Amino acid sequence: MRDSPSTPATAGASPQLLHTPGPTYVPDAVREAMSRPSMDLSDIRLETLVHDCETGLADLLGTTHADVLMYAANGHGAWEAAIVNLLAPGREVLVAGSGFFAEAWALHVEALGCVARRTPVRPGRALDPQAVEDALRADDQRRIGAVFAVHTDTASGATSDIAAVRQAIDACGHPALLVADVIASLGATPFRMDDWGVNVAIGGSQKALMLPPGLSFTAVDERAMAVARANPVPRSYWDWDKRKSPLLYRKFCGTPPQGLLHGLGAALTLIRDEGPAQVFARHRQVALMVHAAVECWAQAGQMSLHVTVPEERSSSVTTIAVAQDVPVETMRTLARERHHTAVAGGLGPYAGRMFRIGHLGAVHPGMILGALGSVEAALRGTGIDIGDGALAAAVGVMA
Ligand SMILES: *Cc1c(COP(=O)(O)O)cnc(C)c1O
Repeated sequence: MRDSPSTPATAGASPQLLHTPGPTYVPDAVREAMSRPSMDLSDIRLETLVHDCETGLADLLGTTHADVLMYAANGHGAWEAAIVNLLAPGREVLVAGSGFFAEAWALHVEALGCVARRTPVRPGRALDPQAVEDALRADDQRRIGAVFAVHTDTASGATSDIAAVRQAIDACGHPALLVADVIASLGATPFRMDDWGVNVAIGGSQKALMLPPGLSFTAVDERAMAVARANPVPRSYWDWDKRKSPLLYRKFCGTPPQGLLHGLGAALTLIRDEGPAQVFARHRQVALMVHAAVECWAQAGQMSLHVTVPEERSSSVTTIAVAQDVPVETMRTLARERHHTAVAGGLGPYAGRMFRIGHLGAVHPGMILGALGSVEAALRGTGIDIGDGALAAAVGVMA
């Protein structure tokens, strides 16, 4: 029985190394904060907690003037909030192609009756700002109300230049708003909402913010708020104007998710105490360790780093494309069930053709060495040909 990949070697006894690009490992300080008892809704401490979460998120987002509105919802909920507040049915959005998350966002736009135009995805590359500029120039009727750009596309593993998207919009004098999905990047890599001219930023809890899933948020600047106020689309739960209230019960359109808010407060304190610059540097170092290891594995010709330009490789997740017929899903099952290490598979066109190692949130170099060791054992255990020296290369980056 022990040899069956579906049977854990030490059932339930050992913690699992969770290396998916969301959900991520929840550190003890966050877990403990989340177990605090609920407060009554008029307790001033609850108001303080919400206020601290709003200002902490604004700091991390690099904004001094946008409103941070939080939802008891996953990231898709915040996507929907942005769509129904900013766009009326029939209105157009330009979705910058960066990978399957951008595509999923475009499909969400279409599901709500709006029109999604897309710039082409360049496989293994970040979004193309020039293609955004070309598409906006061609829009002489000014039908496009917003450009949607994913900062770190968790499916492709590429991080895009969001400031360059703003420059592309301004270069042709187009009035489109810039909406950035920072769900997978916030807390892993720098993001400067105000400096980069982002009108709406969308984040979620279970990635680099080190919380369980279930909390998401939008930061909305004055221009986007004005567009939302003028938008006649019927909406209630997601309505930004209604949520822009000092009353907690209106802010959350009902009871605030207190457990997650306690956790978010603790997570933002962890980031502040370590220092954001150090947090980003740690993410970069861990990412470079993974890249070094994959480059060794790749020497046997069965896999490669999917993102071809090193500077576009995200600090959050490394995507590894595998050759035809490499049994990557068997490898993932073996890694999870025998070696207690969870990594993600490919999405969309890369299902069964890729695996993804998440390294965002509360991840330090020693943890990623454990994950890389487990993945190497699972690759070998599955009979996948890999080159030698991966762990030594990772240690080399670490030292
Ligand atoms: C995870 C993720 C989402 C979706 O978030 P959910 O909480 O799963 O709805 C959206 N965009 C990006 C970039 C993500 O990484």
